Amino acid sequence: MTTLVDLRSDTVTRPTAAMRAAMAAAPLGDDVFGDDTSVNALQEKIAGMLGFEAALFVPTGTQSNLCAVLAHCQRGDEYIVGQMQHCYRWEGGGAAVFGSVQPQPIAHQPDGTLALADIEAAVKPDDPHYARSRLLALENTLGGQLIPMTYIEDATALARRLGLATHLDGARLFNAAVAQAAGGDPYAQARRIAQRFDSVSVCFSKGLGAPVGSALCGSRELIARARRIRKMAGGGMRQAGMLAAAASHALDHHVERLAEDHALARRLADALVGIDGLRVEPPQTNMLFVDLVGAARDRSAALLKHLADQGVLAIGLYRLRLVTHLDVDTAGVDRAAAAIRQFFAR
Ligand SMILES: *Cc1c(COP(=O)(O)O)cnc(C)c1O
Repeated sequence: MTTLVDLRSDTVTRPTAAMRAAMAAAPLGDDVFGDDTSVNALQEKIAGMLGFEAALFVPTGTQSNLCAVLAHCQRGDEYIVGQMQHCYRWEGGGAAVFGSVQPQPIAHQPDGTLALADIEAAVKPDDPHYARSRLLALENTLGGQLIPMTYIEDATALARRLGLATHLDGARLFNAAVAQAAGGDPYAQARRIAQRFDSVSVCFSKGLGAPVGSALCGSRELIARARRIRKMAGGGMRQAGMLAAAASHALDHHVERLAEDHALARRLADALVGIDGLRVEPPQTNMLFVDLVGAARDRSAALLKHLADQGVLAIGLYRLRLVTHLDVDTAGVDRAAAAIRQFFAR
């Protein structure tokens, strides 16, 4: 039995032996009482790393974004957000459902940014007809796409001028930081990106390879509000230090290695270029998108089944999504490429 090459998402990683050891050794308490030392240490570590006063450990990125939007906004406020961003499109409308906060989605430009003119045009005047525009939420990386630093500077400066608070969904902030640091210090780059925002959410369970968990970073006051919302959302965890220890281990050991995931995504892309029926988007980080074009579109479901039969898991009808991560190596990527090539050779 050959091992699976699971390219569906970077969430599928299992904790390494060293990470499990760190989890087993973690000193624990009850985090709802605030005395789980491993959770407290993680919160201080990520807040310090990204240059914030405080941080909150939460079970998921979805809950982290929910806590952020609800901590920034009141009922009847709105947040300006991109159509394809997770905290608009992929979170069940949670901010509207649980917080009565209205999203104001905006179409993305081809490079993933939101046009500054569109942001400005979306901000409503102070008038009872309108929801109160309160927050601008951005995402980096956005589906594996890097949002340029100069754009982040311009967009957050505009938000400030318009009186909007700013939130970054940085589920994959460290992927962005590693790619944008271009061999320099990814931690310094992550901090440079994060410091443009009033709050930042980071996922530990994506490319960083922890089993569970995200952190929301912000001012002490914002995080105190977020802690209350986390409790209401059922996210107050008890001996969560075992999970925090995994996240802390990931911050120490799994940040720089994200460059390997990015290199493997490029290797996979290069191996697929030239196959008739495929249009390969050059990957910027660890997510590769491949469109099936022309007659190949009719074979989309068959392709996914063929890959699964070969032990290669991917998702995306008509648009394959292939994500590299800690549990995929060069041999796995080459096997995936060979399986795709074999399918189109028939
Ligand atoms: C995965 C993801 C989330 C949500 O994380 P979960 O832990 O799955 O809830 C939020 N934002 C982005 C950009 C993500 O990729």
